[in-house]
Amino acid sequence: GTGMSDTCLFCKIIKGDIPSGKLYEDDDIFAFRDIAPQAPLHFLIVPKKHISGPSGVTPGDEQLIGKMIRMAGEIAGKAGIGHYRLVFNNGEGVGQSVFHIHMHVLGGRSMGWPPG
Ligand code: 5GP
Ligand code: ZN
Repeated sequence: GTGMSDTCLFCKIIKGDIPSGKLYEDDDIFAFRDIAPQAPLHFLIVPKKHISGPSGVTPGDEQLIGKMIRMAGEIAGKAGIGHYRLVFNNGEGVGQSVFHIHMHVLGGRSMGWPPG
């Protein structure tokens, strides 16, 4: 093919072309463990639709982004984690390294605020 699924790392993970520690999948979203965990629980939730990042979200995506937040709590809760942090990085300057929107879900340890 000639779509983002040929070039985008997370599109390849969603398709199953690159293995990942999958935690959840439905028609809209995919959740998998971060390869470099920064907390005892650290996973990513991505929409199956390729969106470049938070700044690429359009009004038609609002329900999808809300579902990502709702499912973060569901998946963390199944892992016994009720206190967690959700992070979206937008732009290289704040740490975005993959340009397919993803929500970090981190939990299982205490965390400082504000972030560094
Ligand atoms: P960002 O820095 O863009 O906010 O987050 C990208 C995240 O993707 C990083 O935390 C990084 O560890 C994770 N990551 C990068 N490549 C892979 C991979 O091939 N598999 C998995 N499971 N996570 C990855
Ligand atoms: Zn993608």
